[in-house]
Amino acid sequence: METKVVKIEEKNIDEKAAEALKKAGDVIKKGGLVAFPTETVYGLGGDALNPESSKKIYAAKGRPSDNPLIVHVYRIEDVEKIVEDMPEAARKLSDAFWPGPLTMIMNKNEKVPYETTGGLDTVAIRMPNNKIALELIRQSGGYIAAPSANTSGRPSPTIARYCEEDLSGKIEMIIDGGQVGIGLESTIVDLTSEVPMILRPGYITADMLKEVLGEISIDRTIIDSTSTQKPKAPGMKYKHYAPKGDLMIVQGAQEKVVEYINSESAKAMEQGKKVGIIGTESTKMLYKADVVKSVGSREDEKTIAHELFKVLREFDDEGMDVMFSESFDDSGIGQAIMNRLLKAAGHNVKVL
Ligand code: AMP
Ligand code: MG
Repeated sequence: METKVVKIEEKNIDEKAAEALKKAGDVIKKGGLVAFPTETVYGLGGDALNPESSKKIYAAKGRPSDNPLIVHVYRIEDVEKIVEDMPEAARKLSDAFWPGPLTMIMNKNEKVPYETTGGLDTVAIRMPNNKIALELIRQSGGYIAAPSANTSGRPSPTIARYCEEDLSGKIEMIIDGGQVGIGLESTIVDLTSEVPMILRPGYITADMLKEVLGEISIDRTIIDSTSTQKPKAPGMKYKHYAPKGDLMIVQGAQEKVVEYINSESAKAMEQGKKVGIIGTESTKMLYKADVVKSVGSREDEKTIAHELFKVLREFDDEGMDVMFSESFDDSGIGQAIMNRLLKAAGHNVKVL
């Protein structure tokens, strides 16, 4: 299959762009797949109410079929039509954070096929904050099932070229809307438990949710690397976000971290390995390796969220055998950053 790539600027959805989005919507209505930008990462979209479309999504990504998809809507009324009942907490959270990087889990009704929910009686729903995404959802009938638009296990795509790398030839269309704003997937909160529970940390932090709901819990398995329990979001149990080479996170005082990474890097290079280092704006000049990249500034963690997956992908493109990364503060958005980084490293952490 030939994959058509269409460029659309979110800030300038003119007549031509609207026409292209209508065509893309038709592709989805007919059971085809379209990769598209959201504010978090690129999504691989199919009709969420069509079981055949969901099956195609799993096939294109090589995703295990027990890993449920997130259903994307463009207006709040459409949520009520696919859930048993909409909890009060969902109303409050949607008022506060939608459209935005928050996914809510509710009990599904019969309209949502089990193929979309990985066999679960619950469904994950989100309204993305991206005009291209919202218009595409509208044009395709109101419900797009969309996981991240990458081959299962690889870092999520933050630019269209990475969707092309993973999915070209396997899907009908890719909408190139430039680099995404946030760069990490949505926060997932389960509203079917008595106290709402965070199943995946993201840009909407625990404190932000607590402010709206009063009470919030967190699935410990996603932040505690020693936990042997199964995470409640099926997707969190899989190897994920992983670059092709070996990645190690180094934790400790800055001076020691730099010293350790430089000495390990020198050893690996001596063995003929290609070495990449993930530092920050304030440390990048202190490292020696084949390639040193900054993921942003510690003072503004949003920059780190924005760059992390991109840097991991670039290291793949550049053929790194070994990578070292600094560690980040585990609070606020840092919780999401460390959750992704730890998974990318397969929990390979050196504590100094
Ligand atoms: P992705 O779309 O690649 O960001 O992955 C979606 C994430 O949402 C995966 O980790 C899923 O396991 C999780 N998820 C989707 N639906 C549900 C659900 N009904 N219950 C729990 N987790 C879910
Ligand atoms: Mg994903």
